[in-house]
Amino acid sequence: MRHLYDLRKSELVAWLKERGEPSYRALQLFGWLYQKRVQSFDEMTNLPKKLRQELETEGQTATSEAVLRQVSKIDGTVKFLLRWSDAVTVETVLMRHDYGNSVCVSTQVGCKMGCTFCASTLGGMIRQMTAGEMVEQLLYSQRLLDETNERVSSVVLMGSGEPMDNYDEAMKFIDIINDPSGLNIGQRHITISTVGMVPGIIRLADDGRPITLAVSLHAANDQLRSSMMPVNKAYPLAKLMDACHYYCQKTGRRISFEYALVGGKNDSLDDARELAALIADLPSHVNLIPVNYVPERNYTRTPVEQIDAFAAELRRLGVNATIRREMGHDISAACGQLRAEHAGRL
Ligand code: SAH
Repeated sequence: MRHLYDLRKSELVAWLKERGEPSYRALQLFGWLYQKRVQSFDEMTNLPKKLRQELETEGQTATSEAVLRQVSKIDGTVKFLLRWSDAVTVETVLMRHDYGNSVCVSTQVGCKMGCTFCASTLGGMIRQMTAGEMVEQLLYSQRLLDETNERVSSVVLMGSGEPMDNYDEAMKFIDIINDPSGLNIGQRHITISTVGMVPGIIRLADDGRPITLAVSLHAANDQLRSSMMPVNKAYPLAKLMDACHYYCQKTGRRISFEYALVGGKNDSLDDARELAALIADLPSHVNLIPVNYVPERNYTRTPVEQIDAFAAELRRLGVNATIRREMGHDISAACGQLRAEHAGRL
């Protein structure tokens, strides 16, 4: 069985060509999959019956089911828990902003990066998500938005998993959703978030794709960062900053740094100054995230006044900083929370 969401348009053309079908048939099928977002071959009425029957036996659309769907009463954030036939579950989140709808996609089932504040990594990495499985995640949100004639306007690869550890599938996913005759999500509206895997950052810089790079920094010195993020032992800050400089020089784009504030750990004004010095000569933006509470981790949150003071100190030192608005607080929308809760109930 071929998972059709796993094919770029050119690959779909090639696949159907092997079956003796002209390329316009593949374009029609691509339109059904991504513009009309139909899942049953029966409904693809302009395809010949014989082809529809072949697709039925050799091709596949949805491979997952939504086992949970929660909607936040506070801000309309929707969280889906999806399950595949091998029983793995993955979360995807639709966030409603005043500038549009963004979807957060998971690139791996679980994660092996071991960040001490994160719920996704608690059970390790189970397996990679394929590009087609990422496409499916996005389509759940898009189909829901179809009910009100809205569209997904931006995508962030910030769900569970490390996208740079699944680079080829992540890029294939981006190619598929970017296709102008399909979902047509502009590359500038796609953000890939990394724990700081240096080879991936360099590869992305060389690829020349105009997507946005977000780097999860969370600490501005090696000792602190290594205690929170094991990846820092393999790629310490000096190497990471070199890669970030290379990325900015090569692409002319700025980097978005994520910094989760953890009470008493990385949230003092000295930490803010150290952060400002670290990124002083990088075209960048800092996203301050009040750490989400994870029951398995005994972290405290930074008080709101302290978050404001931290942001003010960064700005005083010339850093472009914003505080991320929390979304879906009532539905465990933060990374890995729903999946962890669900597993606990089984
Ligand atoms: N592996 C990638 C992408 C997935 S994590 C990365 O590390 O960037 C997405 C973001 O959520 C990262 O910045 C991550 O550090 C952050 N995050 C994880 N757990 C969190 C928590 N409990 N509170 C706040 N942010 C968290």
